[in-house]
Amino acid sequence: MSDLTFETESHASPRSVEERTALMANPGFGKVFTDHMVIARYSAGRGWHDAKVTARAPLPLDPAAAVLHYAQEIFEGLKAYRTADGGAALFRPEANARRFRLSAERMAMAPFPEEAFIEAQRRLVEIDRAWIPDTPGGSLYLRPFMIATEVFLGVKPASEYLFVTIASAVGSYFKDPTGTVTVWLSEHFTRAAPGGTGAAKCGGNYAASLAAQAEAARHQCEQVVFLDAAERRYIEELGGMNVFFVFGDGTLVTPPLSDSILPGITRDSIITLAREDGLTVREVPYTIDAWREDVRTGRLTEAFACGTAAVITPIGRVRGREDDFTIGNAVAGPVAQRLRTRLVDIQRGLAEDRHGWFQRVF
Ligand SMILES: *Cc1c(COP(=O)(O)O)cnc(C)c1O
Repeated sequence: MSDLTFETESHASPRSVEERTALMANPGFGKVFTDHMVIARYSAGRGWHDAKVTARAPLPLDPAAAVLHYAQEIFEGLKAYRTADGGAALFRPEANARRFRLSAERMAMAPFPEEAFIEAQRRLVEIDRAWIPDTPGGSLYLRPFMIATEVFLGVKPASEYLFVTIASAVGSYFKDPTGTVTVWLSEHFTRAAPGGTGAAKCGGNYAASLAAQAEAARHQCEQVVFLDAAERRYIEELGGMNVFFVFGDGTLVTPPLSDSILPGITRDSIITLAREDGLTVREVPYTIDAWREDVRTGRLTEAFACGTAAVITPIGRVRGREDDFTIGNAVAGPVAQRLRTRLVDIQRGLAEDRHGWFQRVF
């Protein structure tokens, strides 16, 4: 049990109803932030302390804070959904709390107590409840993160950390939520290597993926698909989403978890839901050569990316140095659509939740 208790200091001058309504009319993704944040501090002597819900404000940070030099940083991403009765719910927050602890371990950071992690999310959703969109694709995106704040330029795990959660009112991640995305096959850059930090949710993995993302954008692709760093043959994942392949015989394939693949909670939920639906899900390595061949023969009928931010997004086209192929006429396929509906309905409390995933906040 964690004995960390959160004080609440409400914002003295939150934005007006008019300002908030205008900001939320077309929020996009990750641009519109709420009035509050949660913070807590850690020092090696005192453990976690000074936890509070407070007005959202810039963080005071010494220029020698370790995070600014050696990137000792982790984050999470989860959503609060509006329910039909005007309440709000989180989806599997304990899975995010656990992954946050595992990410901290990998980055040699102080673990944040899992119960306190969940409480921080609930507190923020409660105090900023007016910022949860009630539009069909809208939600309140929660971004917990932790940074090394110790003032020291030596290279070692820091002895001081800051935990923060901010929240953003969001619409859908991609411009056209019913459409498909085109992915760029990154043959030069890799995202994560065996023994590296690919399974931890840390900013450094994203920093390492941006040159590939820029390369993708230059080729009119929205996302990057990364191959394994050792053999450059196996599909691993997208820059921030896991990937599934759908076959005409009702089989789904997704790359098996390893220390270079982020264990997505959406990925895990989809595996469960697909199996309940009678589909066979195989967590097996899948090569780029097999992908080309299975599309050519028509054996593969769909491919989709998945993650909290983008939910399930069908992949319509794959481009690369020597590749340009289309999957299923580049429209959203029936398996991806069906799984998406099943998942979203559970998240919003519209369908039976057999797994205890739906966690009401109020
Ligand atoms: C967060 C993330 C995902 C998706 O994880 P979810 O828990 O489903 O949101 C996939 N890949 C990477 C690299 C990520 O950072």
